Amino acid sequence: MSSAQVGFDTTESEEAIREVAREIAGDYDQDYWMEVNGPEKRRPTGYWRDCADAGLLGTTVPEEFGGQGLGMSELMAAVEELVKNGCFGTEMLFVVNVIFGGVTLTQHGSREQKEEYLEPLVDGDLHFCMALTEPNAGHNAPEMDTHAEQTEDNIYRINGPKQWISGIDRADKMLLVARTTPLEEVSKRTMGVSLFLADPEDDAIDIRQLETGIPHPENSFELDLHDYEATEDDIIGTKGMGLYQLFDTVNPERLVTSAGGIGLGRCALNRAIDYASDREVFDQPIGSHQAVQHPIADAWSKLEAAEQLVNKAAWMMDEGKDRRDTAEISNMAKLRATEAAYEATDQAVQTHGGKGFLRKHGVVEMWKGSRLARVAPGSTEMMLNDIAEHTLDLPRSY
Ligand SMILES: Cc1cc2nc3c(=O)[nH]c(=O)nc-3n(C[C@H](O)[C@H](O)[C@H](O)COP(=O)(O)OP(=O)(O)OC[C@H]3O[C@@H](n4cnc5c(N)ncnc54)[C@H](O)[C@@H]3O)c2cc1C
Repeated sequence: MSSAQVGFDTTESEEAIREVAREIAGDYDQDYWMEVNGPEKRRPTGYWRDCADAGLLGTTVPEEFGGQGLGMSELMAAVEELVKNGCFGTEMLFVVNVIFGGVTLTQHGSREQKEEYLEPLVDGDLHFCMALTEPNAGHNAPEMDTHAEQTEDNIYRINGPKQWISGIDRADKMLLVARTTPLEEVSKRTMGVSLFLADPEDDAIDIRQLETGIPHPENSFELDLHDYEATEDDIIGTKGMGLYQLFDTVNPERLVTSAGGIGLGRCALNRAIDYASDREVFDQPIGSHQAVQHPIADAWSKLEAAEQLVNKAAWMMDEGKDRRDTAEISNMAKLRATEAAYEATDQAVQTHGGKGFLRKHGVVEMWKGSRLARVAPGSTEMMLNDIAEHTLDLPRSY
């Protein structure tokens, strides 16, 4: 259980995690991260090993399965601190492995699945990915085309397309989301979907890489499943309830993305502050002008505000608060953090003037990186839809 508490003090475990994160970050320079997030996608093997050795990959995994048995609050501290100290793309690496793998299996895996997969995930030896998104469905997941048909000998034959599946080229296991009861036969459109533990290297899965124009550490792919075969033992949790169980994966996913965004925003603004203090034009540091100071101060305060929402949502998860209430605060946190991160990185580019576009300063890469989180996972518009409908009780607009 997390040692997170109500109030604003940093807990001892959180401070210890931040210290470890700073130490790890200190061993990897900007060139390393440019290669990890660049088109060549250098595999961050040394970094991942360090995170595993320090216990960070098992932060939320119970001790009996090799983890630390801590909470989301500590996980947010780790991700924020790593990114703030220059480990760009950490949030995606953590989402793909720690959340899609570790959190899903901890929450809903069978005893056998936990025993087999959690420890290697915590040790950094097993890599994960998740296949939820589809070309025709987009954010409208219940309308997915991928379906699993159960044969007489209890095999599930799975067919359908998936899109934007990150890290499948490096993954040993995949969380695969498929409809097990046709949409027309369920009383609620969110029912009849199941989670499968799948083998990404199976011949029944064709993968094609997507070329993106933003820095991130995992390539993304389109998939086609042709008669992929799964068994009852491959189902994670309760058959037909996958979209409900997935709340326990996508809410932490949104928070890790948010924590990464806050770290990125702070990293960018710290560079802007250093630059504004040094750079002199018109015989004084540019940072002495309010027109330069104020937007930095404004962006900094928005990151701070967003972090309070992230902390609140993480605390709600750790305390086992109502899933729907937790989703609302997670969505608000995601909205505020990713918008604040984009504003912060944009301001960092602006403060650097022309030099903001030189790769060596890093801020233009951070700006591009922060753009992704306004769309995925879960766009700004979908966060606003959720707040309007569930928090404000306004009519559902779609
Ligand atoms: C780099 C990257 C990596 C990803 N990795 C993964 C992964 O590993 N696994 C995975 O399953 N998915 C992944 N995704 C998918 C991601 O999580 C998003 O869910 C997905 O991009 C959204 O679907 P779409 O792109 O088809 O958008 P659409 O649903 O087509 O939406 C397009 C636009 O319309 C807006 N819109 C749609 N409906 C509404 C509405 N009702 N009201 C207001 N606005 C609306 C959206 O906000 C958005 O701006 C990834 C995406 C990216 C870009």
